[in-house]
Amino acid sequence: MNFIDDMKKMAGVELNEVQREAATHGEGPLLLLASPGSGKTTTLLMRIGYLVETKGVLASRIKAVTFSKASAMDMGERFERFFPHLGGAAPDFSTIHSLAFEIVREFLRRRRIAYRLIEGQAGITEDELPNKTKILLELYRRTHDDYMTDDQMEELTRYIGYVKNKLIPPERLGEVKCDVPQAEKIFSDYERYKQFGEDRLLVDYDDMLTIANEALSEDAELLSKYQKRYDYVMTDESQDTSLVQHAIVEKLVKSHGNLWVVADDDQSIYGWRAAEPGYLLDFRRTYPNARILKLEQNYRSTPNIVDVANRFIKRNKNRYDKNMFTDNPSGEPIVITDLPDYKYQAKYVTEKIIDNGNLEETAVLYRNNSSSIMLMNALDRAGIPFYMKDGDNRFFSHWVVEDILNFMRMTFSDKRPDILEKIHLKFNGYITKKQMAMLLELKKDEDESVFDRLLRHIPLQDYQIKQLETCKMTFLQLQGAAPLVAIRTIRDRLGYDKALEKSCERMGYRKELLVGILNTLEEIAEPLETMEQFAARLKHLERNMKQSRMNKGAGAVTLSTMHSSKGLEFENVYMVDLVEGIIPSGDDVKKDDKGETDEMEEAARLFYVGMTRAKTNLELLAYKTRDGEQVQPSRFVAEVRHIQHPPKTAQINQSHPPRQAGPAVPVNPNAIKEPSALVVGAKVRHAVFGDGEIVLTIGDSVEIRFDAETKRLSANICVQMGLLEPRS
Ligand code: ATP
Ligand code: MG
Repeated sequence: MNFIDDMKKMAGVELNEVQREAATHGEGPLLLLASPGSGKTTTLLMRIGYLVETKGVLASRIKAVTFSKASAMDMGERFERFFPHLGGAAPDFSTIHSLAFEIVREFLRRRRIAYRLIEGQAGITEDELPNKTKILLELYRRTHDDYMTDDQMEELTRYIGYVKNKLIPPERLGEVKCDVPQAEKIFSDYERYKQFGEDRLLVDYDDMLTIANEALSEDAELLSKYQKRYDYVMTDESQDTSLVQHAIVEKLVKSHGNLWVVADDDQSIYGWRAAEPGYLLDFRRTYPNARILKLEQNYRSTPNIVDVANRFIKRNKNRYDKNMFTDNPSGEPIVITDLPDYKYQAKYVTEKIIDNGNLEETAVLYRNNSSSIMLMNALDRAGIPFYMKDGDNRFFSHWVVEDILNFMRMTFSDKRPDILEKIHLKFNGYITKKQMAMLLELKKDEDESVFDRLLRHIPLQDYQIKQLETCKMTFLQLQGAAPLVAIRTIRDRLGYDKALEKSCERMGYRKELLVGILNTLEEIAEPLETMEQFAARLKHLERNMKQSRMNKGAGAVTLSTMHSSKGLEFENVYMVDLVEGIIPSGDDVKKDDKGETDEMEEAARLFYVGMTRAKTNLELLAYKTRDGEQVQPSRFVAEVRHIQHPPKTAQINQSHPPRQAGPAVPVNPNAIKEPSALVVGAKVRHAVFGDGEIVLTIGDSVEIRFDAETKRLSANICVQMGLLEPRS
């Protein structure tokens, strides 16, 4: 028996003709260009198994590179599952960055150059100096005599990464676009600062790649050492490898040419970070003796998903034409759900997840990390464990969240000038900076309200006096109020929304982002009774977000950006926030209108990556309004709807959206309106599941025994959607 037949027996995977050819390929370069779910990663692992088992290659002489730490780990785990008998003799699975860092460390040691990492190092905090963010903030301030916004920082960092990954020489910097004024100057100041600004060389994440590339060019001994270390180099997801990364790999394999790569140009989603899929399409130019294979059979998804995704991606012009197909058994159509408003989305998805079960095989995918908080809140309330791949770390420490907590602190006690100082420009007390400074200089008196002190000791205009008296009353009235009432009052009566609008105009913040944060806070506050509970809930969610990594593979739903979902697969996939402005983004559309189609095509590829994660059930979610504004469902959803004929569209009733796609649930006047009425022993009728009896309540969850089965549902969602009525 040969290796391939052995694998069929052991791992249950019978490689097809092309996969076999790729896995058992001899020496020299090979490129496997293939569709999603066609077994690229599987074949890569089989090849390693083949080299080790059949060819007797030592695992340590094989280097397998992939795009993220998480996928390097996933690969290692999959390898263990396929080849448990190898007893941990796995090859070196890693990212190019970690390989580059190893090279850089050695290179700088050999040159006796002291260095310090300023990014990409676990445990580095914002306050530790120097770090990349701080240096850039300072350089921007020096150039513009102003502060940089978060958006500008994001854009500037993207620009720097792009320039480095594309290996753009200084004289051609002008060709690279960046929305931050004088980015070119800030970039060259930054490079100089890293070289000469401190007592040692400062190295950021992208420098690891450029320095490693230089090291391998300049230090022949080092190059030879690394070339000798690995006899075989393989890369997965190579469509997202950047030019500098290709250059490093090219040097590594120069002596033997044993480079084995898999890629799918339709899944290239890091163009904005300088991925270079074109390089692979020119593979033959770099490696004239390369073998190039193609795979089009998908083993992952149902024919419906495969067919729709295949037709969808043909909208892109800039691609190699492929025709993905599958022989898998047929399944359900893709469900397209139009919710009346954004606010129903998280609860709706939660309810569907509860219904479908199989949490570990379920993923919720979104384009922006900011979508994760609402989802996490809804899942957590329903007691559903989740694993968040890349949480929105900025949310809980965002200054808008801090502001709201400080307003709330003022309702507990209005005697602390230090708290007033933080928010005095953000409500309609019209306190000037100068007046605030005068207040801070007064002798401390911890028994007197800051408002009284202002009124008594600081010269004020008449209109200010009136306003301050009103504000003082408002803060007093809020004492003990429910957090939702407090947030609404802060936004409205105390004028926080208006103040935000002004700072958006002045500082260039994105208004919809800030309003989104406030609406998320309202959503979190909604069922809570006290502001202490609200503050505790925020802490709880933040902790859960950080700890959710521990839930991986432990029966938890995966929450992930579409980007980070690359390479993964799940039985059930929900893609959320599929509206114009998000996917495609406003920028994608603007550029497309100007005839620059790259971004729009990349957004479509991202959408395609999301869709092709689903094995069996795929649901696309859009909505008609968000934060009081009309929004359009994504054009990509419309295209899917058009491709999938006849479309299966859920019509959701405006005031009471039902818990799943299908005909609207009529408004039920007898519906139970208070969660407190849901007690053990109560007999109820569910709008969808029929008659049942409550057998257990824990937190927000109620377990109801129906004829067919017992279901765990969210009490709040049942009540809000009017799904339960009492039964005698
Ligand atoms: P992606 O582009 O999303 O990374 P991929 O091409 O790497 O996908 P894999 O993840 O390797 O695809 O495989 C997709 C699924 O197909 C896996 O569940 C895998 O076990 C299965 N599979 C791959 N090849 C075969 C085969 N020859 N027979 C049966 N199942 C297969
Ligand atoms: Mg893969």
